[in-house]
Amino acid sequence: MKFIATYAYSKGTGADMVQKIIDLRSDTVTQPTPAMREAMMAAPLGDDVFADDPSVNALQENIAAMLGFEAALFMPTGTQSNLCALMAHCERGDEYIVAQSAHTYRYEGGGAAVLGSIQPQPLAQGASGQMALADIAAAIKPDDCHFARTRLLCLENTWNGFPMPMDYLEQATTLARERGLATHLDGARLFNAAVANQTQGETVHFAARRIADNFDSVSVCFSKGLGAPIGSALCGAKSLIARALRVRKMAGGGMRQSGLLAAAATHALEHHIERLAHDHALAQRLADGLRAIDGLSVRSAQTNIVFVDVADNLGPELLAHLKQHGVLATGLIGLRFVTHLDVDAQGIDWAVAVVREFFQSR
Ligand SMILES: *Cc1c(COP(=O)(O)O)cnc(C)c1O
Repeated sequence: MKFIATYAYSKGTGADMVQKIIDLRSDTVTQPTPAMREAMMAAPLGDDVFADDPSVNALQENIAAMLGFEAALFMPTGTQSNLCALMAHCERGDEYIVAQSAHTYRYEGGGAAVLGSIQPQPLAQGASGQMALADIAAAIKPDDCHFARTRLLCLENTWNGFPMPMDYLEQATTLARERGLATHLDGARLFNAAVANQTQGETVHFAARRIADNFDSVSVCFSKGLGAPIGSALCGAKSLIARALRVRKMAGGGMRQSGLLAAAATHALEHHIERLAHDHALAQRLADGLRAIDGLSVRSAQTNIVFVDVADNLGPELLAHLKQHGVLATGLIGLRFVTHLDVDAQGIDWAVAVVREFFQSR
């Protein structure tokens, strides 16, 4: 059997069979749609370092307004967006409170410490990613020369696919504000969180706005479930974004005709937000299918990420088996499957069938 990146599912039989690769490693693997590519090609461009690119300016105004901020800055990556936020909020010798397995702390090369001389104060998290309010309160240092200055609370939503409960966001950020801390949200998958938090009759945009309202700054990725090839945005007050602009330049993120990319992000905001609910439904379909198989325990499917614990340390073997059958996932002991724009129900059913076959043939 041959595997190819883009083709109809399971054509032919036996050796002639051609199967589309079901890539569930991440929602970052999506290809820009034909309509998105068209929007990119049609974008009016300028030099964004001169603040001259109309497509970048439009995107920045659009996302800032959507999330209720004064200003926004287009960024090449979420990592750079978070770094610029942390360095705009904090000075050298300041400290930020962050969860142990938060992206900014664990998966961004320690950038805040390395490049910003900002000390992280990581805290333990519960199973769905929350730091206890009492732990946050206890971690805020008094104004005393022994201590780094605690300046910022950084939360992440969604975290590992878990949407943070709205009342937790309110309580944690209120606590931070009362103690004089600024607040930043790593909202790489903010709109997935918004879909999960949507109340009856509410638009996804409004739910996203309700989440963002708790924070002084929010970083959101266009390159995840929204399906753009590249890009994130940092949103905040004008003064904060002005500081972030300096850091972005310093970090090498001053781009030129980046309207080409901003147009993809604008297209994603216009066409790919509402459809995230479909990714969540597919994750649910995958989780339900996997739950019916002995030897697995399925941990979460509240948004577009499904974690699966595999019995008897069979994770690596299962991963290899999946790959052999055209299904890609990540992980070791626990496997991770992420749904997105480029998978459909047929692909999910194929993935479940391959997992079932793995356990049946043992
Ligand atoms: C993907 C992601 C980022 C940013 O990642 P980049 O690959 O740098 O764009 C930040 N935070 C979270 C939670 C993420 O999932």
